[in-house]
This record gives sequence, C-alpha cells and structure tokens, in this order.
Amino acid sequence: MTARPPGTDPRWLTRGWPHVWLPYAQMKTTPPPLPVVATEGTRLRLADGRQLIDGIASWWTACHGYNHPHIIGAMERQLKIMPHVMFGGLSHQPALDLARRLTALLPPGLNHVFFCDSGSVSVEVALKMALQYWINRGVAGRSRFVAFRHGYHGDTLGAMSVCDLEGGMHRPFKGHIREQFIVELPSTKEARTGFDSFLRRHRDEIAGLVIEPLVQGAGGMKFHGADTLAAVRRIAADNDVLFIADEVMTGFGRTGRMFACEEADISPDIICLSKALTGGTMGLAATVASDRVYEAFLDDDPAKALMHGPTYMANPLGCAAANASLDLFEREPRLDAVAAMEAHMAEALEPCRALPGVRDVRAKGAIGVVQLDAMRHLDWLRRRFIEEGVWLRPFGDIVYMTPPFIVEADELARLTGAVVRVLGEWARR
Ligand SMILES: *Cc1c(COP(=O)(O)O)cnc(C)c1O
Repeated sequence: MTARPPGTDPRWLTRGWPHVWLPYAQMKTTPPPLPVVATEGTRLRLADGRQLIDGIASWWTACHGYNHPHIIGAMERQLKIMPHVMFGGLSHQPALDLARRLTALLPPGLNHVFFCDSGSVSVEVALKMALQYWINRGVAGRSRFVAFRHGYHGDTLGAMSVCDLEGGMHRPFKGHIREQFIVELPSTKEARTGFDSFLRRHRDEIAGLVIEPLVQGAGGMKFHGADTLAAVRRIAADNDVLFIADEVMTGFGRTGRMFACEEADISPDIICLSKALTGGTMGLAATVASDRVYEAFLDDDPAKALMHGPTYMANPLGCAAANASLDLFEREPRLDAVAAMEAHMAEALEPCRALPGVRDVRAKGAIGVVQLDAMRHLDWLRRRFIEEGVWLRPFGDIVYMTPPFIVEADELARLTGAVVRVLGEWARR
C-alpha cells in the first residue's frame, strides 16, 4: 500500500507518526495508519470525511457498535462521580455490581472475580492462580501448562508461553521463555485416548490446561466442535488438571451463546474475560475462579493470598461500561442477531469457496472466515477493502469478519459483498 497523496493527512498524523510504534507492524515498510476522527454505530469516520463500515469491531470488542448511547450515558455519569479509585482496601458499586452480575451469567461454580486491565493480564492471573493453587495445597512440581496448536492467549511473557510459538507470531521468542506442552486439539476418539494418556503421563508436572473454547481467534479463526471442547474438559478433570477457558475473544455472544463454554455445557475451573466486556469502550478484564480454586487460597497464612494487583484494576469507568453492556444483552435480542449473522455470512461468503487459492469458508456466530491456501498481496487486499468502504484487516492466511452485533442486514451484505468481490479480483492477480 502506497502512502496517501501528500497533504491529504491531518497535521497531527504527519507530526505524530514518526513517534508512535504500531502493533505487529514492520515500521520500516508499514503504510501510515488511517486517521480516524470519530466512530458511530458500525462506522469509522476518517479525517477526509470518508466512512468505513467496521467489519471487525475494533478487534471484536465493539459488540453493540460504537458510541452506544446507553453505554456512553453510564460512562458519563460515572466519569463525573469517580473515574478511578484504587481497589486495594477500597471498593465501589460498579465493580461489585459487575462481579455479582458476571458470576450470575457465567457457567455454575465460577463465583470469584479478579479484575485486571487486559486480556493478556487476565491470562497471566489465571496461570498464577493455577500455579499457586497447587503450591497452596502443598503439591510440589505441578508448574507447567498444556495448551493447543494454533492457540493464542496474549502477548505478555506468561501468556506467550501458552501460545503456539511454532506456528504463531511469537516465533522469535522460542527458547527464551518457559516451555509448555503445546499439543493438537483432540478432535477424534483416538486423539482423545492419546490426549488422556499424555495427561496421565505428565500430570505430576502439569498445573493446568488453557484453551480458547470453540474458536481459536488470533491463531487463524479455527473452529472446533462442542464435543471436542467437552472431551478436553472431561479429560482434564479425570487427570486433576485445572481447566482454564480463555474466553477473551469468544465471551459475550461472539460464538452464538453468551459464553462458548455453554455450548458444550461445561464449567471451567478458571475463565478469562476481556475484549467485549466493556462493549469496546475501555480496557478491562476479569479472571473468574471456581469455588474450588478460590478455596485453596483461604488460609490464616498471608503467603497463601493471591499476589497480584494491577494499579487500574476494576476501574470504575470500565466497570460502569461493562454493566451497561450487560444491560444491553439483557434488553436487546443480541444473540438472535448473532444467529442471523452466522446464517447470512455462511451463505454470502460461500461463493468464495469456488475461487482458486481459497482453502475454506466458514462461519460461527458473528465470525465469518475465508481461509486462503497462502496469503498473497496482503497490502493490496487491505487497500482494496478500504476502497470498498469497509474496514477489514486480513492476517495470516485468512480474511475474516467479526462485525458489531448491531450491524444492519444491508451493511452486512456490503461487508460480505466486498469480501467476495475483492477476493475474486485477488484470485485473478
Ligand atoms: C485478544 C486476546 C488476548 C489478549 O488480550 P489483550 O487485551 O490484547 O491483552 C488473549 N486471549 C485471547 C483469546 C484473545 O483473543
């Protein structure tokens, strides 16, 4: 993608651009980012007045669309009273209401909410909880984790250790961080028997297992069935390995149920939540533990407490936004909308399947994916989508969509239409 014609970018962009470092970007060659000046509903408004339909909802956070008046109103009220206060020794209604409401919504047994500030940190906290669970119970040596190929759990060091380093974007760090067991998701009966004997062999060194239920997101939007998820849950329990569900991506309706674990009718020992928690407005996350995990920390010995405490944990503004987001899930037919989106995307993206270079087309909940044999012309693809008036950001070997749940049928048709048209051109290049 070439830079835009000189003089068309706002001054703040040209002046500030040399001083920022973008995520996952080769700064030597990456094109300058698009200047966004406002958001509304499904739309991003650019500095030059153009509007793009956001097909990925800001990394699948903005589930109710941008600037939803109910969430904005709740945040404005909270902003005037108390934007932030520390959570050590103090508490406030937004956080305690949110903790109560989350535990009521989550699968049974997940009753103890630890707030933090990002998805990666919620995974770090889950890993620490699992490690210390065994330490507190006087069991030595259970210090490693099992995770799955194509898995992604965040960019901090502990979270990175349970990502698929081999296939993933953290490859340069291999050999420099804790080596965990990264295994295939057991999708067949034989694989499950193998997975069970693997856990049995290593259980004395394993603290827990981490999985993205039903959809592995940043590792390529790969889907697995509820039967596989349920089997992994059962095998973990049989081997007394703590089961950590990373629902940072899948939580809050993205796969069609409020939480992906519901589809397999399972209850994890620990669950991680973030991304759509605040409806895409603030960085906030939660690690929620079962009674069993929580009780291992209860003791007269202060050393058995969970030693973690992010400065901005349970930020009241974020909690107010999250409570407002939960109101919307209660009041509005979001999950019905997600079911309709799945049907629409599955059908509308189907023509891509016949294109040369396309490996697979799939949809689950509000996630639509076209997987390619190999990514080619990535910058061209990204530019063409912008020309089509949509914001889509292919990566790895996929072109994917995770639109806001409030997307109108005609907007969704514009998104899927752009994917079909642009990939048609791409296939002929
Ligand atoms: C995005 C994501 C994370 C990391 O969350 P951050 O807020 O970016 O730190 C962890 N796990 C999954 C499944 C995610 O999708």
